[in-house]
Amino acid sequence: MISELRISRLDLELIQGELEANSPYEACGVLVGTIDRDTAVVEKAVPITNSKRTTTSFELEPEEFYNAWNNAEKSGMEIVGVYHTHPNSSAVPSMWDRETMQNDMGVWLIAGSDGMKAYVWEDGVQAVEIVGI
Ligand SMILES: [Zn+2]
Repeated sequence: MISELRISRLDLELIQGELEANSPYEACGVLVGTIDRDTAVVEKAVPITNSKRTTTSFELEPEEFYNAWNNAEKSGMEIVGVYHTHPNSSAVPSMWDRETMQNDMGVWLIAGSDGMKAYVWEDGVQAVEIVGI
């Protein structure tokens, strides 16, 4: 199980910028990188259009998601997780998030109004430590 997410401060700033630019709607994107045992190492965060454009949920626009996945593959990386923003609430998975996480192996980084937190689903929501590098 992944317990640590290593991500550059630049990418954390990018995600924070996406939160502010898209507020009050949720923003989303993917985390591209590699998995090393229990650590997900993010090489870059890639913003993806939220095709739902609501204030309470998100959906990665399928074509942009496919392109991001394809580019990651080509450079020997993978999509290690997704990020999305909670401009109007804390960085805690919503009911909708929890249901969606159950079908997703990757890390979920949530940027909330109170900062960022990361999670994985493993018999329930488990916290992942964010390490800024
Ligand atoms: Zn959410």
